[in-house]
Amino acid sequence: MSEAKKTVFIKTYGCQMNVYDSTRMADVLARENYRPVGSPETADLVVLNTCHIREKAAEKVYSEVGRLKPLKERARQAGRTMQIAVAGCVAQAEGEEIVARAPIVDAVIGPQSYHRLPAVLARAAQGGPAIETDFPDEDKFDHLPRIGGAAIAPAGAGGPVSAFLTVQEGCDKFCSFCVVPYTRGAEASRPVAQIVSEAERHVARGAREIMLLGQNVNAYHGAGPDGEDWSLARLLARLSEISGLERLRYTTSHPLDMSGELIAAHRDLGKLMPYLHLPAQSGSDRILAAMKRRHSADDYRRLVEKLRKARPDLALSGDFIVGFPGESDSDFEETMRLVADVGYAQAYSFKYSPRPGTPAADAADQVAGPVKAARLHELQALLHSQQTAFNAAMQGRTVDVLVEKPGRKPGQLVGRSPWLQAVQLDAPADIVGTIQPVRIEAIGANSLFGSLARPAAAGRAPARRPDSIGAIA
Ligand code: SAM
Ligand code: SF4
Repeated sequence: MSEAKKTVFIKTYGCQMNVYDSTRMADVLARENYRPVGSPETADLVVLNTCHIREKAAEKVYSEVGRLKPLKERARQAGRTMQIAVAGCVAQAEGEEIVARAPIVDAVIGPQSYHRLPAVLARAAQGGPAIETDFPDEDKFDHLPRIGGAAIAPAGAGGPVSAFLTVQEGCDKFCSFCVVPYTRGAEASRPVAQIVSEAERHVARGAREIMLLGQNVNAYHGAGPDGEDWSLARLLARLSEISGLERLRYTTSHPLDMSGELIAAHRDLGKLMPYLHLPAQSGSDRILAAMKRRHSADDYRRLVEKLRKARPDLALSGDFIVGFPGESDSDFEETMRLVADVGYAQAYSFKYSPRPGTPAADAADQVAGPVKAARLHELQALLHSQQTAFNAAMQGRTVDVLVEKPGRKPGQLVGRSPWLQAVQLDAPADIVGTIQPVRIEAIGANSLFGSLARPAAAGRAPARRPDSIGAIA
């Protein structure tokens, strides 16, 4: 008789990389007979996969743990055990402090150690808490179960149409505001063969699009099968050869690592979608220098020009920080000017928030809260108007939509345009997983609405542009 299944509830905060990591933790736990559940009430294990980028990140985790306390107590009274594990970047940054402040936490585990999660939980069960925040010598990707491996799901079954795949982790850039180099460690790239076989397994499970992930993904330099270090451009070209894979994307990129070869990939690889997340952070050279971004606002403008020359329909997304220490009104105006010059399809913007342990957190000239709030408001109004205009320009156009899943209403499906816009359409469910031409008829706040431009074509639409790769100087 097989062992009764235990249940796990995983709550994920932050970036796509955390979403990917949560899936991999679920894979590791599936091997240990855990089954995912949608709420913490009856779970045997609750994992909080945390993010340390946003303001008051650690405080939010402590509040969440506080909310779990009565559930854990109720489980104890019912003769069950509920384990609580804190994972992710807050776990890495806070370590033992978490169990000192919240003794009901059984395990604290950093992002590099997820393959060790069962052992950490077992240690905790024997009289916890167990804390694992070292950067281990072995590579977690060598030890995590294979996606689509027999223990997890058979080929062809139930994978996402658009899948995340981590190719690079960590960062050596040390921007003066950012915790990532401390919480995710030094930059490391996965070998090409490992990535290709993971991509092939995703495709076998139904993926038609893969988003390559990395904190600094365009610095990718993984070992190739020929013994050489491969660039991201070369990796993308190799992945483009996978039959059945129709779309490729990657995020997040640093402008300094946007090589001529990678720009050329946007020109040459038909499967590489015309949408790029390229954070600028600020438009002021003085602030960019203080942030240690190591490029100027004009360098960024020139880069955008090259990218658009290579791929004229490229849409840009970005990240901006307002109220970085020392930012004056005129520095902020430079940011507004950069945004106006570039024109974004979509962008994220944040108030600077001091992250303990980063150089900028100790700067004396912190900007007052209300000033940050006013600047953020102004910047977001501009970004919002650009996004609205970008979406409005789709009205009446026919765009290729990768249909991903059923929508909320019966008969409705949801997909994505090449520019990552959510598109809703009424169409038969058997076109999920195919690319269809959709005529855009209405523009909503968060989605475009359309209908099939011609009766649903069975099978997959071909990539529209030929693939070859060269370099742009
Ligand atoms: N690697 C990317 C890059 O080079 O821009 C950024 C990754 S970071 C995880 C995501 C975004 O969070 C950053 O681009 C930045 O805009 C924002 N961010 C990071 N630290 C921040 C801080 N201390 N305060 C406000 N926003 C921050
Ligand atoms: Fe953080 Fe990105 Fe800078 Fe690395 S490049 S330190 S991840 S903001």
